[in-house]
Amino acid sequence: MSESDCLFCKILAGDIPADIVYESETAIAFRDINPKAPTHVLIIPRKHIATINDIGAGDEAVIGSLYSAAREIAKAEGIAEEGYRAVMNCNEAAGQTVFHIHLHLLGGRSLSWPPG
Ligand code: 5GP
Ligand code: ZN
Repeated sequence: MSESDCLFCKILAGDIPADIVYESETAIAFRDINPKAPTHVLIIPRKHIATINDIGAGDEAVIGSLYSAAREIAKAEGIAEEGYRAVMNCNEAAGQTVFHIHLHLLGGRSLSWPPG
């Protein structure tokens, strides 16, 4: 899928509305349209990267910034101390459906482990 067809690039461009909860120079975060937990936020890099497999050697700071966003959002959502999950699916077997990497931030309830 090319960048111009990418749903999350369209959200980044403001072409598709989203409930944005966080913005930085390198990342934005918005609420998942189909939340799987009381808090379910998607944290994405501004840079289009399709999957974890496509992360380049120069992308470390961008990827690190997704976790800084997770820390800040978890604090703002009031779930930092009780705990939460930050997870990224890669390709079909893991259930990736949008091919612009995104960290799922899930919290506000007990989360089972291992995932299904
Ligand atoms: P994946 O399955 O790729 O790991 O996660 C994609 C996530 O994007 C899903 O949890 C899905 O609910 C969410 N999603 C899909 N389309 C939209 C949309 O248009 N807006 C928002 N906010 N989330 C979306
Ligand atoms: Zn994209």
